Amino acid sequence: MPTHTVINPATEQPVRQVEQTTVEQVDEAIQRAVRAQQHWREVAPADRARLLRRFAELVDACVEELAALETANSGHPVGAARWEAGQVRDVLMYYSAAPERMTGRQIPVPGGLDVTFKEPVGVVGLIVPWNFPMPILSWGMAPAIAAGCTVVAKPAELTPLTAMRIGELALDAGLPEGVFQVLPGKGSVVGQRLVEHPAVRKIVFTGSTEVGTQIMAGCARTVKRLTLELGGKSANIVFADADLDKAAATAPYAVFDNAGQDCCARSRILVEASVLDEFMARLEPAVQRVQVGDPSDAGTEMGPLISAAHRAHVASYVPDGAPVAVRGTVPAGAGFWYPPTVLAPVPADSPAYTEEIFGPVVTVTPFADEADAIAKANDTPYGLSGSIWTSNVGRAIRVARGVETGNLSVNSHSSVRYWTPFGGFKQSGLGRELGPDATDAFTDVKNVFIATD
Ligand code: NAD
Repeated sequence: MPTHTVINPATEQPVRQVEQTTVEQVDEAIQRAVRAQQHWREVAPADRARLLRRFAELVDACVEELAALETANSGHPVGAARWEAGQVRDVLMYYSAAPERMTGRQIPVPGGLDVTFKEPVGVVGLIVPWNFPMPILSWGMAPAIAAGCTVVAKPAELTPLTAMRIGELALDAGLPEGVFQVLPGKGSVVGQRLVEHPAVRKIVFTGSTEVGTQIMAGCARTVKRLTLELGGKSANIVFADADLDKAAATAPYAVFDNAGQDCCARSRILVEASVLDEFMARLEPAVQRVQVGDPSDAGTEMGPLISAAHRAHVASYVPDGAPVAVRGTVPAGAGFWYPPTVLAPVPADSPAYTEEIFGPVVTVTPFADEADAIAKANDTPYGLSGSIWTSNVGRAIRVARGVETGNLSVNSHSSVRYWTPFGGFKQSGLGRELGPDATDAFTDVKNVFIATD
C-alpha cells in the first residue's frame, strides 16, 4: 500500500506515515456511503440534530489535541489552530439546528394541494485543500450531514491528520458508520474517483482554479451538482478619508495571516495616491511587528509555508531586483520560512500583481479616485474577498456594490463568518457555503401535487 510521509513544515521532520487510499478502497467507501445514506435520511430530524451536537461536543473536548496536530502538520501558529478547531465545533453546532428547520413550501394551485420537499442529494464528495484543513472540511461536511447526505471527504495529501482524527470523533459521537468517511490520498486517485463515480451526486471542491476547472468538466459527465471555492487576488482599498493608523496596522494581518496561504488574502493593497506616503510610513513598522516563528509558541502570529516546493513557488514572485519596499524577518535554520514582503511600486502586468501568490507577499499600488479604485479592484479574473477603508458611509456602500467579489468588509478584514454566506464571483468559485442557506446546496427540491378533486 502506498504511503505519504507527513512533514512538519517548521522543522522539516517527519510526523507520521499515512496510508494512501486506493481506487478500490474509494469505491468501497462510496458503496458504504450509499447504504448509510438510505438509513441516515430516515433518521428523525431531532435525532440527527442530537448526533451533530454530540459530535460538536466531542470536537470541543479535543480542541487542544486537534490544534497541536494541526500545528505539527501544517505549521499553523497554535493560537490560530485552536481557533480553527473551534470553528469545526461551532459549524457543527450551527448546522445541528438545521435538520429540524428544513421546511418546504405549500404553493396555491387549482385542483389540489402542492407542496415541496428538500430531498438530500445523496453521497457528497468533499475535496479539501491544505491551507485550512479543519475549517474547510467542516464547511462542507456539517451542512451536508445535517441535510441528510453522507460525506466521503478527501483531505489534501500534505495535511490529512486533523481530518482523519475528526472522522474518528464522528464515529465516537455515534454517527452511523458510512455517514462521514475520510480517505487520505492523492487528488489524481481519490479526488478524481469521487468526481467520476456515478453514485457520488455532488462534489464540494476547495482548491486552485486550475484543478477546479478540471473538476467542473469532470462533473459534467454525470451532471453532478458542484460547489467550487477557488483562488483569489483580493484588494484592500484604502481611501484618504480612512483611519490610516488602523488601516495600516491591520493590513499585514489581512494578507500575512496563515503565511498568506489564504484564498481571502488581501494581496493587493490599493491606496488613494494623496495618502500613499503617509500609509507606507505606517505600514512598514506594522509589517516589522508581525511575529514570525515557532508555531507552538502562543505569541507567534505567522508560521512557515507548507512545503519547500511551495516556498520556491512563492519566492519566484520576488526575483533579484524586485521592488521590495519592506521585508520582515524569519527564524534561521530548518523550516520552510518566507519573510513578510511588501512590493512597491509594481507594474500592472507584473505576475506579483496579477497572479495569486498564496504566500506572504503583498503589493501596494496608488489609485486616483473612487472609479479608479473600483476599476483596479476588478481588474482580475478572481472575485473572492476584499476590504474597503473609508469614513464616508455612502462611499463604502457605492464601492462595496461596485467591486465584483463575494465577500467584502468595511473598516475591517472579516471574511469567513459561519453565520453568513461565503463564496466567489467570477473565477473564484461557484455556489455559496456557510450561512443560513448552506443546507440548500445539499438538497434537490421535489414538488408534489395531490389532487383534491
Ligand atoms: P489544489 O487545487 O492543488 O488541491 C485541492 C485539493 O484537490 C487537494 O485535496 C488535491 O489533492 C485535490 N486534487 C488535485 N488534483 C485533483 C484532481 N485531478 N481531481 C480531484 N481532486 C484533485 O489546491 P491546494 O494547493 O491544495 O490549495 C490552494 C488553492 O486553494 C489556492 O488556489 C486557494 O486560493 C484555494 N482555496 C480557495 C478557498 C476558497 O474558499 N475559495 C479556500 C482555500 C483555498
